[in-house]
Formats: sequence, C-alpha cells, structure tokens
Amino acid sequence: MSRLLIENAEVLVTMDSARREIENGAVLMRDNVIEMLGDSVELNRQLDAQGLQPDRRIDARGCILVPGLVNCHHHLYQTLTRGIGTGAGKSLFDWLRMLYPIWALMDAEAIYISARLGLAELMLSGATTVADHLYLFPNGARLDDEIRAARELGVRFHPTRGSMSLGQSLGGLPPDSVCEDESHILADCERVIAEFHDPAPLSMLRIGLAPCSPFSVTPELMRKTAALARRHPGVRLHTHLAETIDENRFCEEQFGMRPLPYMQSLGWTGDDVWFAHMVHPNAAEIDLLAATQSGVCHCPSSNMILASGIAPVREMREHGVRIGLGVDGSASNDANQLLGEARQAMLLQRVGWPGFESRADRFSAREALELATLGGAAVLGRDDIGSLEAGKAADLVAYRVDGIEHAGAGGDRVAGLLTCAPVNAWLSVINGQPVIEQGEICGLDLPALVQQHNAQSARLVQGAAQQGNRHDLSLIHI
Ligand code: ZN
Repeated sequence: MSRLLIENAEVLVTMDSARREIENGAVLMRDNVIEMLGDSVELNRQLDAQGLQPDRRIDARGCILVPGLVNCHHHLYQTLTRGIGTGAGKSLFDWLRMLYPIWALMDAEAIYISARLGLAELMLSGATTVADHLYLFPNGARLDDEIRAARELGVRFHPTRGSMSLGQSLGGLPPDSVCEDESHILADCERVIAEFHDPAPLSMLRIGLAPCSPFSVTPELMRKTAALARRHPGVRLHTHLAETIDENRFCEEQFGMRPLPYMQSLGWTGDDVWFAHMVHPNAAEIDLLAATQSGVCHCPSSNMILASGIAPVREMREHGVRIGLGVDGSASNDANQLLGEARQAMLLQRVGWPGFESRADRFSAREALELATLGGAAVLGRDDIGSLEAGKAADLVAYRVDGIEHAGAGGDRVAGLLTCAPVNAWLSVINGQPVIEQGEICGLDLPALVQQHNAQSARLVQGAAQQGNRHDLSLIHI
C-alpha cells in the first residue's frame, strides 16, 4: 500500500455534488483510490492525528487541481493525416473521400505509433480517460495495436471496436477497400471483449462496439452489434450521428427516416449508447435522447472545422441529456488539446446564440469544465471518475496558473483556466500513478516519438499519391 499526497494547490476543484472549490487544497490517494481531500493545513493535521505519513508529497503551489479530463470521442489514427483538407474548409463527406485512400495504407505499426502520439498529446492537455473509435483495420491492423499504446502510457482507456461494411458498391460512402466482412467484424468484436474488457469498478480498460455511421454500415450490422454488446455487461455502443445536414439527407433517402429515429428503429437508443456529434437533432429528438438516456459526445472544433454546424448543447443539457466532450479525430480537429476543447465548447455555445443582454444561463467556464469531467464520466457510464471525492479513482490533473497565460486572472482562477489560453498539465496522476511530472510524460522520449510518427505519416501520404490518387490529394503539399 502506498500513499501520495498532493498539497498546497491554489484551488482544488472537486466537481462533487456541491461543486466545492477548496482553496489551498490537498488530495490524499491510497494506491489507486482517493482517500481524503480538503484544506491542506486541515488534512495534514488529520494525518498527524492518525499517525499517518504519505510515502510521497507533491507541492502543487501555483496550480489548480481538477479531476482528470475525459475524452469521449476520438480517432487516434488520424494524427497521421493532420492538415489535409482542413486548411481548405472541406465538408465532412468530401474530406472523408479524400482521406480514405490514405488511411487504407495504414498497418499495425501505424495504428500503434499514432495512438501513442495522440494519447501523449491528449494526456499532456489533461486527459486521464480516453475513448477511441477505431473503425479501419487495413493490412493486419487490430484494436490490440492501440490498446498496447494506451497500456504503455498508463491512460484509462475505452477503445471501441468500430467497423465499416457499406462500401460504395452497396451505396455507402467509403471505398470497398476499407470495408470489412460483417461476420469477421462480429467475431473480432467477441474476441476483443473476451481478451481485454474489464467491467469492474476502477477498470483501466473497457471495450465498446462502434459501427462507424449510418452511411458506412448496414442496418443488419447495427442490429447485430447492439445484440452482441448487450450480451456483455459494461460493453457500450457508440457511433457517429446527426453530424451534418448531408447525413440527414442520406438517412432520409436511404432509410426514409432522420438519423435518430433510424437508430431507434434498430434498437440503438438507451443508457448504454452514446452518439458522437448530434449537431442536428430537432426538438422531438432531443426529447427522445433524454427519455432514453442516450448519451452525446460534443466535438465543437471538429464541427467548426468541417462546417457541420453548432450542436444545441444548452438545450440538450436543459432537457437532461447526458453530454460529454471529445476532440474527435485528430484530422478533423488537428489538435488533441482537451482543455482547449472545453474552451471551444464554451465559446461556441455563446456565439451560437448571441444577444445584447447579459443572460444568466449563458454557457459558463465551469459548465464547460463540467462537460469535460463529470459529463464525460456519465457518457462512458462511469461513477468512479469525473470528480474528486473519497472512494473515487485517483485520477487528477494539476495545471500551473502562475505563468504568463494566467497573469492577472487571480480574481477567478477556475474560470481563468478556461477563458485564458489553454495550458498543458504540469502534473497528471492516473490510477494513483504520476504519469506527467513537471509537464513531461514520465519515461517517454517525445522527440523520438514525433520522428517515428512523422515517418509513418509521410509513408502513407506518399504511398497514396503514388497509387494514383493525385487528383484527390491535390491539396496536399508533399
Ligand atoms: Zn468522429
């Protein structure tokens, strides 16, 4: 048994039910669980009274302590193809058509290296739990390749086994070359659940199942995947939904229904389901999300980059919909900065409904931080993360607020964390283990990783260009 005490934080943001913010805060962790928290002086007095000495103390003077951030939607492999089409302002379908041929050239090593890089960047931004959506498995790649990267870095991981089966020849969007056979997809879902899924409290790894979207899998695969997931406790369902107007049109033409009613007809609503995006629900669909307790992952940067629209996060929250936050794939965000994403969520909700009068319900900094912590935990079905309370998982992050970015923001340090320029974590503890200290990921040679990653990225882009996709790749400068 070992105890770690983090003390003297400027502010400790608990996100508990009273939303306590404790000045001069301290958190005591025993192994991988939070044992006690409170004012540093008082907590030390209690330790002395009980004759307890922590095995290690970390002085967090000059820092804000917050619960580890939760990223609920991502495609880590897309770090390999950042900056393609995003500079030009492509919309989702055009952007996807441009990238599919490049992604088709990935292999196991590319998946592993990109996951390692994407996770490292996310962790540096303050993420301690990450859900990823991997739906392409070319050239022998497997979900195992990103799981290996997550385990090495020590991040709490919710990888989802994605899939695409509705290729162009069947009326879908992706080329047939990146689609898989449905019986193989389902067998591999069973395999990864058996091999990796841990439904226990404080789990470091839970598998989800995630057919890619209505425009890339068949209704049969959606139905069978839901049935398969529901045979295994704690295996949740995930997909993209209601992301663009184009998708609404596709669903109406192909299935005679809008995206959410279509998913409902397939058994894809419920508290074990979460949808990425949900930019375009109508009022009845917001009610349906709330009534079925289906979750939503808001991805503001991606929605802005691909010109998808503004998700009605305020309305969904007011109706009781569970909402978390995600950076989405690194190629439709081009960043893995989750604290910055919370800032984007706050700003986008404000700009979406401008007005001259000050409104009490305007999206606040604290509400944005809640999306990135408690919101994400709820979406992933976890009551053991998302807040700092005794008995919860020992996942927390310290951001320095004594630097240039926060100079002058002492009036409200917590709001300043969101309203000032996003900073990286100075300290991150996951499952009781410090994984970032002094702003560096413990044991990681980051420059070497960036080099390895860029070599993989260049191999893919050049390979696709040589295969005759020059027209599609006209925006890439190689
Ligand atoms: Zn996505």
